Amino acid sequence: MDRATQRGEGAHPPTIIIPPRTLLVLCGPAGSGKSTFAKRLVDRHSSEGWQPTMIVSSDACRGLICDDENNQQVNRDTFDLFYYIISKRLYQNRLTLADSTALQADPRRHLLEIAQRYHYNACLFLFDVSLETCLQRDRQRKRQVGEQVILYHMGLLKQALLDAPNEGWYQFAILKEQASDIEIVVR
Ligand code: GDP
Ligand code: MG
Repeated sequence: MDRATQRGEGAHPPTIIIPPRTLLVLCGPAGSGKSTFAKRLVDRHSSEGWQPTMIVSSDACRGLICDDENNQQVNRDTFDLFYYIISKRLYQNRLTLADSTALQADPRRHLLEIAQRYHYNACLFLFDVSLETCLQRDRQRKRQVGEQVILYHMGLLKQALLDAPNEGWYQFAILKEQASDIEIVVR
């Protein structure tokens, strides 16, 4: 299949086809809905055997290390663990969703390299969600990251929107506010 750039808007509902050997990388600001999207996607595909363990979350890795999913002091160990679990899953031929902000080029490159090492297709879903929506959603949740962090993420998002299409992703999709409408077909 050709590489494709798709937008999660337009068709109703938009469908994205991914191969079984896919590392699906979610990318977007805090509050853009990445973790919610991942959980809903796994739920919707539960009849096909999808399980919550398919989602590898950097926040969950942070929590495993220090019991605090917000603690930015343990980022190095958090991402060691994040990449390690992802690598081990790909070694086991498991479809995997990488749930982190992935807003900077380095972590995206790292995830691309892991996928290449295990002959996986790396697909990027970029959550292009407005500042207002991210702030509003952040305010609604229990564990908040706050306005300063989200403003910083919005700047990184702008750059990611420019860079990511040329980074070599097998598929690259931009998801807007209604990301949960997206249909994923594995084949
Ligand atoms: P993340 O930081 O990108 O992982 O964002 P989350 O998935 O944690 O979402 C942040 C908050 O926004 C949560 O309270 C979600 O319930 C809410 N949220 C996420 N996606 C949607 C959505 O599509 N619609 C609405 N209304 N709320 C959402
Ligand atoms: Mg999250």
